[in-house]
Formats: sequence, C-alpha cells, structure tokens
Amino acid sequence: METLGRLFEDTLRDVYYAEKAILKNLPKMARKASSPALKGAFEDHIEQTEGQVSRLEQIFDMLDKAPRGKRCPAMDGLAEEAAEVMHEAKDETVRDAGMLAAAQAVEHYEISRYGTLAAWADKLDMPDAADLLRATLQEEKDTDAKLSELALSEINIEAEEATGAKDSDRKKRSRKDAAE
Ligand code: FE
Ligand code: FE
Ligand code: FE
Repeated sequence: METLGRLFEDTLRDVYYAEKAILKNLPKMARKASSPALKGAFEDHIEQTEGQVSRLEQIFDMLDKAPRGKRCPAMDGLAEEAAEVMHEAKDETVRDAGMLAAAQAVEHYEISRYGTLAAWADKLDMPDAADLLRATLQEEKDTDAKLSELALSEINIEAEEATGAKDSDRKKRSRKDAAE
C-alpha cells in the first residue's frame, strides 16, 4: 500500500463488501427474531444500511472509481458466527440473545471502520466524504446503543427466565454429582 489514498480506497471497498453482506444477513436475522422489538430493530437497520451503501457509492464517485467490494474476512467470520448461533440455539429467547450479541459485534466492526475512514478523509482533505462517513458512523453508534438498551431491558432477561430453571437444575445436579 504505497499511499494513504490507496489505503482509504481499499478500506472503503472492505466496508462496502461488509455492508453488502449485512444486507444479505439482516433479513434472515429479522425473520428468526422472536422478540418484536428485536425484529423491529433489525428491520430498521436494513433500511439504514441501504442508505449507507449509497453513501459509499457517492464516495466512490468522488474518487472517480466504480464501487467495488473487497472480501472482508472479518465480516465473513462475524456472519459465520451469527449463522452458528442461529442454528445452534434451541430456545428462541436464547437465540434472540445470541443474535443480538452477533449484531453488536458487527456494529462494533463498522464503528471501527467508519471512525478510521472519516479520520483518513479529513487527512486526505475530502470534507464531503468525511461528512458522509460520519453520518453513517453515527447511525452505527445509534444502532449499537439501541441494541444495548434492548439487551438490558428484555432480551437477556427473557433468555435467563426461559432457561434459568434448566440452569439451576444443572447446578443442583452437578453439586449432587460432586457430593457423590
Ligand atoms: Fe452499516
Ligand atoms: Fe475488513
Ligand atoms: Fe450497522
């Protein structure tokens, strides 16, 4: 990578790939969500993500480049983990808690990428690109905060209530095993 400009363009392609992957995965997660609030949060973010993709396309345009993604192994890994929790969680409230955590991991990746890209756009003297990147950064932060709120207010509590009985049975059993 010889220049910051090249690095900026490459990272833009990384996050473009990630946003496209998110557009594929979020509808599946919304369908699998049993909490209406979680489903609603995923659905709202699908719409936001479409706007974020078009912001990235505007920036490619400023660079006189065709919008093109570059495979992001981090996003692929996060998507794989989300798919895993969706398949493996048997209880629907536990699945909700797992999907919420997986979605937050994605938001954190995006927050990190957009924070960096906005700072680089400043350095490269691209104020319009920086504004677009910061608008998306704010949406990712708001989504993360909304998911945190959901986790505290209902999702994890319901997952605990639904499985708490089983967990305490297990604890009792293992204590018994230890005593024997
Ligand atoms: Fe996004
Ligand atoms: Fe990446
Ligand atoms: Fe996001």
